[in-house]
Amino acid sequence: MESEYSDGERTRRGSEVADTLKPCAPAPRGKDPDIERRVAIVTGASRGIGKAIALRLARDGRHVVAVARNAGALADVVAAITAAGGSAEARACDLADAAAFAQLVEDVASAHGRLDILVNNAGITRDGLILRMSDEDFDTVLSVNLRSCFAGCRAASRHMLRGKWGRIVNVGSVSGISGNAGQANYAAAKAGVIGLTKTIAQELGSKGITANVIAPGFISTDMTDGLPQIVKDKAIEHIPVRRFGTPDDIASACAYISSDEASYVTGHVLVVDGGMTM
Ligand code: NAP
Repeated sequence: MESEYSDGERTRRGSEVADTLKPCAPAPRGKDPDIERRVAIVTGASRGIGKAIALRLARDGRHVVAVARNAGALADVVAAITAAGGSAEARACDLADAAAFAQLVEDVASAHGRLDILVNNAGITRDGLILRMSDEDFDTVLSVNLRSCFAGCRAASRHMLRGKWGRIVNVGSVSGISGNAGQANYAAAKAGVIGLTKTIAQELGSKGITANVIAPGFISTDMTDGLPQIVKDKAIEHIPVRRFGTPDDIASACAYISSDEASYVTGHVLVVDGGMTM
Protein backbone atom coordinates (compact mmCIF):
# COMPACT_ATOMS: atom_id res chain seq x y z
CA MET A 1 0.00 0.00 0.00
CA GLU A 2 1.22 3.48 -0.89
CA SER A 3 2.32 5.38 2.26
CA GLU A 4 1.47 9.06 2.72
CA TYR A 5 4.73 9.55 4.64
CA SER A 6 8.29 10.10 3.44
CA ASP A 7 10.90 7.41 4.22
CA GLY A 8 12.32 9.54 7.07
CA GLU A 9 8.92 10.17 8.61
CA ARG A 10 8.01 6.48 8.29
CA THR A 11 11.21 5.49 10.12
CA ARG A 12 10.58 8.04 12.86
CA ARG A 13 7.01 6.87 13.42
CA GLY A 14 8.12 3.22 13.28
CA SER A 15 10.78 3.72 15.93
CA GLU A 16 8.33 5.61 18.14
CA VAL A 17 5.94 2.66 18.04
CA ALA A 18 8.82 0.19 18.59
CA ASP A 19 9.87 2.21 21.62
CA THR A 20 6.49 1.66 23.30
CA LEU A 21 7.00 -2.11 22.91
CA LYS A 22 10.40 -2.19 24.63
CA PRO A 23 10.32 -4.05 27.93
CA CYS A 24 11.13 -1.88 30.91
CA ALA A 25 11.76 -2.48 34.58
CA PRO A 26 8.56 -2.98 36.56
CA ALA A 27 7.33 0.12 38.38
CA PRO A 28 8.60 0.21 41.97
CA ARG A 29 6.15 -1.39 44.37
CA GLY A 30 4.89 0.17 47.55
CA LYS A 31 3.41 3.55 48.33
CA ASP A 32 4.52 6.63 46.47
CA PRO A 33 5.53 9.18 49.12
CA ASP A 34 3.90 11.81 46.89
CA ILE A 35 0.53 10.05 46.94
CA GLU A 36 -1.12 12.75 49.08
CA ARG A 37 -0.44 15.33 46.41
CA ARG A 38 -1.71 13.40 43.42
CA VAL A 39 -3.76 15.59 41.13
CA ALA A 40 -6.89 14.14 39.55
CA ILE A 41 -9.04 15.79 36.89
CA VAL A 42 -12.62 14.50 36.93
CA THR A 43 -14.99 15.60 34.16
CA GLY A 44 -18.74 15.69 34.58
CA ALA A 45 -18.12 16.26 38.29
CA SER A 46 -21.08 18.60 38.85
CA ARG A 47 -23.53 15.74 39.50
CA GLY A 48 -24.23 12.04 39.12
CA ILE A 49 -21.37 9.60 38.69
CA GLY A 50 -18.68 12.27 38.26
CA LYS A 51 -19.64 13.99 41.50
CA ALA A 52 -19.42 10.67 43.37
CA ILE A 53 -16.01 10.00 41.80
CA ALA A 54 -14.76 13.48 42.75
CA LEU A 55 -15.90 13.05 46.37
CA ARG A 56 -14.35 9.58 46.58
CA LEU A 57 -10.97 10.49 45.07
CA ALA A 58 -10.77 13.53 47.36
CA ARG A 59 -11.59 11.30 50.34
CA ASP A 60 -8.70 9.08 49.24
CA GLY A 61 -6.32 12.04 49.43
CA ARG A 62 -6.20 13.29 45.84
CA HIS A 63 -6.42 16.94 44.90
CA VAL A 64 -9.49 16.94 42.68
CA VAL A 65 -10.04 19.29 39.74
CA ALA A 66 -13.77 19.16 39.14
CA VAL A 67 -14.81 19.95 35.55
CA ALA A 68 -18.26 20.55 34.00
CA ARG A 69 -20.26 23.46 32.57
CA ASN A 70 -22.33 24.37 35.62
CA ALA A 71 -20.01 26.52 37.74
CA GLY A 72 -22.50 26.80 40.62
CA ALA A 73 -22.90 23.03 40.95
CA LEU A 74 -19.11 22.59 40.74
CA ALA A 75 -18.65 25.13 43.54
CA ASP A 76 -21.02 23.07 45.72
CA VAL A 77 -18.98 19.92 45.03
CA VAL A 78 -15.74 21.71 45.92
CA ALA A 79 -17.37 23.08 49.10
CA ALA A 80 -18.48 19.57 50.09
CA ILE A 81 -14.96 18.23 49.53
CA THR A 82 -13.24 20.98 51.50
CA ALA A 83 -15.83 20.74 54.31
CA ALA A 84 -14.86 17.07 54.62
CA GLY A 85 -11.16 18.00 54.86
CA GLY A 86 -10.29 17.29 51.23
CA SER A 87 -8.68 19.40 48.55
CA ALA A 88 -10.38 20.46 45.32
CA GLU A 89 -10.90 23.21 42.79
CA ALA A 90 -13.52 23.86 40.13
CA ARG A 91 -12.90 24.57 36.45
CA ALA A 92 -15.91 25.28 34.28
CA CYS A 93 -15.52 24.03 30.71
CA ASP A 94 -17.77 22.95 27.86
CA LEU A 95 -16.35 19.65 26.65
CA ALA A 96 -18.00 20.14 23.27
CA ASP A 97 -14.94 22.35 22.76
CA ALA A 98 -12.15 19.75 22.79
CA ALA A 99 -9.42 22.37 22.37
CA ALA A 100 -10.67 24.24 25.45
CA PHE A 101 -10.56 21.01 27.44
CA ALA A 102 -7.03 20.20 26.25
CA GLN A 103 -6.00 23.71 27.32
CA LEU A 104 -7.62 23.14 30.72
CA VAL A 105 -5.54 19.98 31.14
CA GLU A 106 -2.39 21.93 30.26
CA ASP A 107 -3.31 24.72 32.70
CA VAL A 108 -3.96 22.29 35.56
CA ALA A 109 -0.72 20.39 34.93
CA SER A 110 1.35 23.56 34.81
CA ALA A 111 -0.35 25.11 37.86
CA HIS A 112 0.33 21.99 39.96
CA GLY A 113 3.52 20.84 38.25
CA ARG A 114 1.97 17.41 37.79
CA LEU A 115 -1.06 15.50 36.58
CA ASP A 116 -1.59 11.98 37.85
CA ILE A 117 -5.16 10.91 37.20
CA LEU A 118 -7.60 11.79 34.43
CA VAL A 119 -11.17 10.57 34.71
CA ASN A 120 -13.08 11.27 31.50
CA ASN A 121 -16.58 10.81 32.82
CA ALA A 122 -18.72 13.58 31.29
CA GLY A 123 -21.23 12.24 28.82
CA ILE A 124 -24.53 13.00 27.17
CA THR A 125 -27.22 11.14 25.29
CA ARG A 126 -29.31 12.26 22.32
CA ASP A 127 -31.31 9.10 21.75
CA GLY A 128 -33.31 8.25 18.65
CA LEU A 129 -33.74 5.45 16.15
CA ILE A 130 -31.16 5.41 13.36
CA LEU A 131 -33.80 6.28 10.73
CA ARG A 132 -34.54 9.57 12.44
CA MET A 133 -31.17 10.43 14.01
CA SER A 134 -29.87 13.77 12.76
CA ASP A 135 -26.25 14.43 11.84
CA GLU A 136 -26.22 17.04 14.59
CA ASP A 137 -27.31 14.56 17.28
CA PHE A 138 -24.68 12.11 16.08
CA ASP A 139 -21.90 14.70 15.98
CA THR A 140 -22.79 16.30 19.33
CA VAL A 141 -22.68 12.98 21.16
CA LEU A 142 -19.42 11.97 19.46
CA SER A 143 -17.92 15.34 20.28
CA VAL A 144 -18.70 15.38 24.02
CA ASN A 145 -18.33 11.64 24.68
CA LEU A 146 -15.39 10.70 22.46
CA ARG A 147 -13.54 13.63 20.96
CA SER A 148 -13.07 15.44 24.28
CA CYS A 149 -11.93 12.15 25.80
CA PHE A 150 -9.26 11.84 23.08
CA ALA A 151 -8.17 15.46 23.52
CA GLY A 152 -7.92 15.06 27.29
CA CYS A 153 -5.98 11.79 27.05
CA ARG A 154 -3.53 13.25 24.56
CA ALA A 155 -2.88 16.34 26.67
CA ALA A 156 -2.67 14.39 29.94
CA SER A 157 -0.37 11.66 28.69
CA ARG A 158 2.45 14.15 28.06
CA HIS A 159 2.42 15.16 31.73
CA MET A 160 1.95 11.63 33.02
CA LEU A 161 4.96 10.53 30.96
CA ARG A 162 7.00 13.23 32.67
CA GLY A 163 5.84 11.99 36.10
CA LYS A 164 6.42 8.33 35.07
CA TRP A 165 3.05 7.49 36.62
CA GLY A 166 -0.50 7.95 35.44
CA ARG A 167 -4.02 6.61 35.55
CA ILE A 168 -6.45 7.27 32.73
CA VAL A 169 -9.99 6.18 33.51
CA ASN A 170 -12.55 6.59 30.77
CA VAL A 171 -16.19 6.07 31.62
CA GLY A 172 -17.82 4.09 28.83
CA SER A 173 -21.07 2.17 28.93
CA VAL A 174 -22.38 -1.32 28.37
CA SER A 175 -24.02 0.26 25.28
CA GLY A 176 -20.52 0.53 23.80
CA ILE A 177 -20.08 -3.22 24.17
CA SER A 178 -23.50 -4.58 23.23
CA GLY A 179 -25.03 -1.68 21.30
CA ASN A 180 -28.46 -0.41 22.36
CA ALA A 181 -31.50 0.31 20.22
CA GLY A 182 -32.04 4.07 20.03
CA GLN A 183 -28.43 4.90 20.85
CA ALA A 184 -26.47 4.60 17.58
CA ASN A 185 -24.57 7.81 18.39
CA TYR A 186 -23.97 7.00 22.06
CA ALA A 187 -23.01 3.34 21.46
CA ALA A 188 -20.62 4.38 18.67
CA ALA A 189 -18.98 6.95 20.95
CA LYS A 190 -18.67 4.54 23.86
CA ALA A 191 -17.30 1.76 21.61
CA GLY A 192 -14.80 4.34 20.37
CA VAL A 193 -13.81 5.08 23.96
CA ILE A 194 -12.95 1.41 24.41
CA GLY A 195 -10.75 1.30 21.28
CA LEU A 196 -9.09 4.57 22.24
CA THR A 197 -8.38 3.37 25.78
CA LYS A 198 -6.96 0.00 24.73
CA THR A 199 -4.65 1.75 22.29
CA ILE A 200 -3.43 4.18 24.94
CA ALA A 201 -2.87 1.22 27.28
CA GLN A 202 -0.63 -0.39 24.67
CA GLU A 203 1.28 2.79 23.90
CA LEU A 204 1.88 3.91 27.51
CA GLY A 205 1.87 0.69 29.53
CA SER A 206 5.66 0.48 29.70
CA LYS A 207 5.84 4.02 31.08
CA GLY A 208 3.92 3.47 34.32
CA ILE A 209 0.65 4.74 32.87
CA THR A 210 -2.48 2.62 32.80
CA ALA A 211 -5.64 3.27 30.82
CA ASN A 212 -8.91 1.53 31.56
CA VAL A 213 -12.61 1.85 30.88
CA ILE A 214 -15.37 1.57 33.44
CA ALA A 215 -18.56 0.49 31.68
CA PRO A 216 -21.60 1.13 33.86
CA GLY A 217 -24.97 -0.49 33.33
CA PHE A 218 -28.08 1.32 34.65
CA ILE A 219 -27.03 3.82 37.32
CA SER A 220 -29.49 6.10 39.15
CA THR A 221 -28.61 9.62 37.99
CA ASP A 222 -30.23 12.44 36.00
CA MET A 223 -29.35 10.42 32.87
CA THR A 224 -31.71 7.58 33.83
CA ASP A 225 -34.18 9.42 36.07
CA GLY A 226 -36.34 10.35 33.09
CA LEU A 227 -36.90 6.75 32.03
CA PRO A 228 -40.52 5.63 32.41
CA GLN A 229 -41.03 3.42 35.50
CA ILE A 230 -42.15 0.52 33.29
CA VAL A 231 -38.79 0.64 31.46
CA LYS A 232 -36.91 0.71 34.77
CA ASP A 233 -38.93 -2.24 36.11
CA LYS A 234 -38.28 -4.23 32.92
CA ALA A 235 -34.57 -3.46 33.10
CA ILE A 236 -34.36 -4.57 36.74
CA GLU A 237 -35.83 -7.95 35.75
CA HIS A 238 -32.65 -8.49 33.70
CA ILE A 239 -30.24 -7.34 36.41
CA PRO A 240 -29.22 -10.24 38.65
CA VAL A 241 -28.66 -7.96 41.68
CA ARG A 242 -32.20 -6.59 41.08
CA ARG A 243 -31.51 -2.88 41.36
CA PHE A 244 -30.03 0.05 39.48
CA GLY A 245 -26.49 0.88 40.52
CA THR A 246 -25.59 3.97 42.50
CA PRO A 247 -22.96 6.58 41.55
CA ASP A 248 -20.95 5.27 44.51
CA ASP A 249 -20.81 1.81 42.88
CA ILE A 250 -18.92 3.43 40.00
CA ALA A 251 -16.83 5.65 42.28
CA SER A 252 -15.57 2.56 44.15
CA ALA A 253 -14.46 0.98 40.88
CA CYS A 254 -12.74 4.23 39.90
CA ALA A 255 -10.97 4.50 43.27
CA TYR A 256 -9.48 1.06 42.72
CA ILE A 257 -8.55 1.41 39.08
CA SER A 258 -6.87 4.78 39.68
CA SER A 259 -4.86 3.50 42.65
CA ASP A 260 -1.40 1.97 43.07
CA GLU A 261 -3.15 -1.33 43.70
CA ALA A 262 -4.24 -1.47 40.04
CA SER A 263 -0.78 -1.04 38.50
CA TYR A 264 -1.07 -4.38 36.64
CA VAL A 265 -4.55 -3.69 35.28
CA THR A 266 -4.56 -1.88 31.94
CA GLY A 267 -6.56 -1.95 28.73
CA HIS A 268 -9.39 -3.44 30.75
CA VAL A 269 -13.11 -2.78 30.44
CA LEU A 270 -14.49 -3.04 33.94
CA VAL A 271 -18.21 -3.66 33.59
CA VAL A 272 -20.19 -2.46 36.63
CA ASP A 273 -23.76 -3.41 35.82
CA GLY A 274 -25.07 -5.73 38.51
CA GLY A 275 -24.48 -8.66 36.17
CA MET A 276 -26.87 -7.40 33.46
CA THR A 277 -24.64 -8.12 30.47
CA MET A 278 -22.69 -11.18 31.60
P1 NAP B 1 -25.44 12.94 34.32
O1 NAP B 1 -26.02 12.76 35.69
O2 NAP B 1 -26.31 13.36 33.22
O3 NAP B 1 -24.16 13.90 34.45
C1 NAP B 1 -23.43 14.21 33.30
C2 NAP B 1 -22.24 15.04 33.71
O4 NAP B 1 -21.54 15.39 32.52
C3 NAP B 1 -22.64 16.31 34.40
O5 NAP B 1 -21.71 16.62 35.41
C4 NAP B 1 -22.57 17.33 33.29
O6 NAP B 1 -22.27 18.60 33.84
C5 NAP B 1 -21.42 16.80 32.46
N1 NAP B 1 -21.47 17.27 31.08
C6 NAP B 1 -22.42 16.98 30.16
N2 NAP B 1 -22.17 17.64 29.03
C7 NAP B 1 -21.04 18.36 29.23
C8 NAP B 1 -20.30 19.26 28.44
N3 NAP B 1 -20.64 19.58 27.17
N4 NAP B 1 -19.21 19.84 28.98
C9 NAP B 1 -18.84 19.58 30.25
N5 NAP B 1 -19.51 18.72 31.03
C10 NAP B 1 -20.60 18.13 30.55
O7 NAP B 1 -24.79 11.57 33.81
P2 NAP B 1 -24.20 10.33 34.63
O8 NAP B 1 -25.26 9.30 34.67
O9 NAP B 1 -23.54 10.77 35.87
O10 NAP B 1 -23.13 9.83 33.55
C11 NAP B 1 -21.74 9.96 33.74
C12 NAP B 1 -21.06 9.06 32.72
O11 NAP B 1 -21.47 7.73 32.89
C13 NAP B 1 -21.39 9.43 31.27
O12 NAP B 1 -20.24 9.28 30.47
C14 NAP B 1 -22.42 8.39 30.89
O13 NAP B 1 -22.42 8.16 29.51
C15 NAP B 1 -21.92 7.20 31.66
N6 NAP B 1 -22.94 6.20 31.90
C16 NAP B 1 -24.03 6.46 32.67
C17 NAP B 1 -24.98 5.48 32.87
C18 NAP B 1 -26.20 5.68 33.72
O14 NAP B 1 -27.04 4.76 33.79
N7 NAP B 1 -26.34 6.77 34.41
C19 NAP B 1 -24.83 4.21 32.26
C20 NAP B 1 -23.70 3.99 31.47
C21 NAP B 1 -22.77 4.99 31.30
P3 NAP B 1 -22.88 20.00 33.34
O15 NAP B 1 -24.27 19.76 32.92
O16 NAP B 1 -22.72 20.85 34.56
O17 NAP B 1 -21.99 20.43 32.24
